Amino acid sequence: MSCTTQHVVEAMRSAANSVSEHRDELVELDRAIGDGDHGENMERGFLAVRNQLELTVPESPAAALKSVATSLISSVGGAAGPLFGTAFLRASTAVGDAETLDGPTVAAALRAALDGVTARGKAEREDKTMVDALAPAAEAAEAASTTAGSGPSAVLRAAAEAAETGARTTVSLIAKKGRASYLGDRSAGHLDPGARSVVLLLNAFADVTGA
Ligand code: ADP
Ligand code: MG
Ligand code: MG
Repeated sequence: MSCTTQHVVEAMRSAANSVSEHRDELVELDRAIGDGDHGENMERGFLAVRNQLELTVPESPAAALKSVATSLISSVGGAAGPLFGTAFLRASTAVGDAETLDGPTVAAALRAALDGVTARGKAEREDKTMVDALAPAAEAAEAASTTAGSGPSAVLRAAAEAAETGARTTVSLIAKKGRASYLGDRSAGHLDPGARSVVLLLNAFADVTGA
């Protein structure tokens, strides 16, 4: 089975719910090493995403992903909004005119998302950012997609698990990018909020993209 436009829309709805449920957790994480708004930023962004997808029903997976990007970029002022926005924009371009998404296409979209985030934010691995979750996720997705019969859900599940492991590595890292870098050595000992959001999003997507 593959992922339809409707699956993509449902995945975004599920992501919006998850981000809202974890809002306080994201706020606490960002309070420790940033300015404490990451939960609000993500909740506002994904509420805008959900509203826009209800207002204008997309006609393809690419159109849905592009709508997500536009909503995030226009509704979130913090660093994470434009970065996640770029990720979804690149993912939209990567899936092209596919009517449904198979495992390899989902993996290619994740790779494109990572490339977009690194092009825009210039963070490398171990800079203690969302890249520490997204990079291993993209790699795991590619590996999973080469296994015969791995559909979007299996690919996203592998990506989510790798993101979780990657996010956990941010705890001991010293931030080199974003607000947390202002803290220098004192940023160590805390989970990066953006990396945590990547885990939440991928888990939400894996839960709904079926087969
Ligand atoms: P702000 O820092 O503007 O308040 P948020 O709190 O919403 O924005 O987002 C913070 C998150 O953004 C960080 O936890 C980190 O994962 C991510 N981030 C910040 N700068 C970068 C960057 N240059 N590259 C990748 N991710 C980044
Ligand atoms: Mg913040
Ligand atoms: Mg902020």
